[in-house]
Amino acid sequence: MQHDVSHNEFQRAQQLIPGGVNSPARAFGGVGGEPPFIERGSGAYLYDVDGNKLLDYVGSWGPHILGHRHPAVIEAIQQTLARGTSFGAPTVQESELAELVIDAVPSIEQVRMVNSGTEATMSAIRLARGFTGRDKIIKFSGCYHGHVDSLLVQAGSAALTLGTPSSPGIPAGCTADTLSLEYNDTQQLAEVFAAQGSEIACVILEPVVGNMGVVAPSTEFLQTLRQLCDEHGALLIFDEVMTGFRVAYGGAQERFGMRPDLTTLGKIIGGGMPVGAYGGRADVMKSISPTGPVYQAGTLSGNPMAMACGIATLRTLKETDPYAELERKTKRLVAGLSKAAGKADVPHTVPHVGSMFTLFFNAEPVTNYTVSSRNDTERFARYFWGMLDRGFYLPCSQFEANFVSVCHTDEDIDATIAAAGESIAAAVEA
Ligand code: PMP
Repeated sequence: MQHDVSHNEFQRAQQLIPGGVNSPARAFGGVGGEPPFIERGSGAYLYDVDGNKLLDYVGSWGPHILGHRHPAVIEAIQQTLARGTSFGAPTVQESELAELVIDAVPSIEQVRMVNSGTEATMSAIRLARGFTGRDKIIKFSGCYHGHVDSLLVQAGSAALTLGTPSSPGIPAGCTADTLSLEYNDTQQLAEVFAAQGSEIACVILEPVVGNMGVVAPSTEFLQTLRQLCDEHGALLIFDEVMTGFRVAYGGAQERFGMRPDLTTLGKIIGGGMPVGAYGGRADVMKSISPTGPVYQAGTLSGNPMAMACGIATLRTLKETDPYAELERKTKRLVAGLSKAAGKADVPHTVPHVGSMFTLFFNAEPVTNYTVSSRNDTERFARYFWGMLDRGFYLPCSQFEANFVSVCHTDEDIDATIAAAGESIAAAVEA
C-alpha cells in the first residue's frame, strides 16, 4: 500500500500542529506509525490522499452510523448553507432537533445544544453541582468524558484514586472533588456513598463504556447506581456521547430501561458536525441560565449547519430503524473475529453492544479498567497494521470501540473476517 503522500503531509503537519493532529487519538500513538491522511469518505469507505480505499470501522469515532455522505444529510446541509451558516439568534431548527432528542430519550425533558461532547459533560457537571449545592463527583476509571479538567482523573489500579489529575496543567484543586472508582464494582460504590453520600453532587458514567474498549455494565451495577443516587440525593448522569442513538435509538437508557437525571450527547446527534447536548429532568435543566443561575453559553451553539446535519441524521434513523440489522451484522462480525482468533489460538474476547465492539487480546472478560489494562497491546498493534495493509481502517488503539454502520454490507463483513484471520495469524508469528 502506498503511503508517500500521507507521509509527506504528516511531516508538514507536524511542523505546524502539535504532533500533526488536532486531537491526539488520531495520531496512531497507540500502534506506533503514521496515520493516512483522508481525502474523502463515501458510505462505509474512506479514500486517502495516496488513493487507497479503506473499509472504515471508525466512522469519525462514532458519528457516522449512516456512513459517509448519506444523501439526506448532504442535502440538508446544502439547503441550509444557502441560507447562511450562523446567526447567533434563535432558529426553528434548534427546536426541531430538541424535539427529536426529547422524543427519542424519555428521561430528557429539556435539552441544551453545545458544540462538543466535552462541553456537554463539562456543563452537565456544573449543572449537577449548581443544582445540588454539592461539590463531589464520582466517575469511573477507564471512562472518558472529554478533556474537562475535573474529569481527567483515572485510577491506575482498582484502588480508589482521590483527586489526582492525569494531565499537567490541571490544578490539583480542580480534581480534589473527583472520586474515581472501578467500573462495575457495586460494593465500592456503596461504600463511598455510605461514607460521603451527602456530599456527592453526581455520578457520571458511560452506560456502555467505549473508551477502554467496549465494556458492558452489569444489571446490578446500573440498578445500584440509580438506587444510591436516589437515596443520597445525587444526580445520575449518563454520558451517552458515544452510545446515544448508537446502541438503540434512545441510547443505552432505552436498551437497559434506565432513567438517569441528566444525559450528555454528542457524535451521532451532530451527524458529523460539531454538536453536543445535555438534557434531562426539566426541574434540573431550569437551573441553567437564562432561566436559572448556573451559567453556560456558546456563540455557535445550535448553529443552523450543525442542527441541519443532526436533524437529517436522527430523522433518517427514526424512519429507517436500522438497529436490529446493525446488531445482526455486528454479531456476525464478532462471531467471525472470535473464530479467527480461536483458530490462531490467541487469547481473546470480543464484547459487543449493538453496533459497538472491541476485539480484546485478553483471555479474561473485560469488566473494568484493571482488566482492560492487561490487554496485549503489542499484539493489537501487529493486528492493526495487518488490517490496515489489507485495506481495513480500525481504531488505532486497543482501548477503543469499533463501529458498524448501515453501509457495511455482509460482503464487507465477510472480507473483514477473512482479513482478520490473516492478520491475527501474522500477529502470532511475528
Ligand atoms: N464522552 C464520551 C463517552 C466520549 O466518547 C467522548 C469522545 N470520544 C466525549 C465525551 C468527548 O467528546 P468530544 O470529543 O466531542 O469533546
